[in-house]
Amino acid sequence: MSSDSVKSVSTYLKKFNLETPGYVGFANLPNQVHRKSVKKGFEFTLMVVGESGLGKSTLVNSLFLTDLYPERVIPDSVEKSTQTVKLDASTVEIEERGVKLRLTVVDTPGFGDAIDNTDCFRAILKYIDEQFERFLRDESGLNRRNIVDNRIHCCFYFISPFGHGLKPLDVEFMKQLHNKVNIVPVIAKADVLTKKEMQRLKQRVMDEITEHGIKIYPLPECDSDEDEDYKEQVRQLKQAVPFAVCGANTLLEVRGRKVRGRLYPWGVVEVENPDHCDFIKLRTMLITHMQDLQEVTQEVHYENYRSERLAKGGSVPKRNASVIEDKTVTEKDRILQEKEAELRRMQEMIAAMQAQMQQQQ
Ligand code: GDP
Repeated sequence: MSSDSVKSVSTYLKKFNLETPGYVGFANLPNQVHRKSVKKGFEFTLMVVGESGLGKSTLVNSLFLTDLYPERVIPDSVEKSTQTVKLDASTVEIEERGVKLRLTVVDTPGFGDAIDNTDCFRAILKYIDEQFERFLRDESGLNRRNIVDNRIHCCFYFISPFGHGLKPLDVEFMKQLHNKVNIVPVIAKADVLTKKEMQRLKQRVMDEITEHGIKIYPLPECDSDEDEDYKEQVRQLKQAVPFAVCGANTLLEVRGRKVRGRLYPWGVVEVENPDHCDFIKLRTMLITHMQDLQEVTQEVHYENYRSERLAKGGSVPKRNASVIEDKTVTEKDRILQEKEAELRRMQEMIAAMQAQMQQQQ
């Protein structure tokens, strides 16, 4: 992470003190990214994985203060038992103080739902690889300057609060994906555990992550010359992993304040209250590390993919190609356009012939 972006993170954390309600906070992204990207809008893709019912959709809606799944249909248990994992990408453009964020959330309905879950991460692996492949192709293609980056920059992996640590499926999923995506483990529905139980579960999850050699997204170390407040805040973020989160789509009134929360007979769980759960910490981590998550995706995961492709053989396009290549590209572009026009003409002819045949029948 560059020291510029670290400074901006520091400003962000101070300015919003990790607790500004009703505000996502990405308006501060211009300090992290190029002005060019700001004009275009900032692009980020987040994947959420975990068994259904753990509160993924609720959390995503709470995080971005938007309804990402207005037409969601929840399958019944018979459908669930046989269905395979589907991937479902929803994109929203959120604007805060003139800064646009094009956020894509990839949900993975069906994960862990089937009776036999041996293969349930295969579809997810395939999806991640397809995005890398598409980027690789686009990077060497004709329109290199306007690539839409659909690679997954971060994956929130939801762990159930009801078990005694990681399940075999959790371990297997993270092991299969840790070289392809930045995994951020979260413990769902934090409100169902007492403080002590949560501490115990967090410790157990971290021990198991270490024991199984799972590589989760490492929050970068601070520069030694960073100010003490910032170092302390990053330390708190690191300590909170795996983030214990709650989500809610309802606004309640608590002591004269409108808060996002869950109303129980004994009181209200406030989503954005750091004493109740790590929601604000998770959102702060995400917003302040968006650029780092993208850099790690580009420099570690995407590079892994590229080198694997090289090792397997086949032509891998060169990055940062020279101007000479640009000229060939223009020539290639022209030939390609001619071929596409020819193809379109043929398709029109076939369609006309089919229409004629149908009329004759
Ligand atoms: P998904 O299938 O993982 O996307 O889960 P949903 O977001 O649809 O939530 C499933 C159920 O859990 C709903 O009844 C939610 O109201 C509830 N829920 C969501 N978040 C929380 C939470 O943080 N705590 C508790 N106790 N329930 C939650």
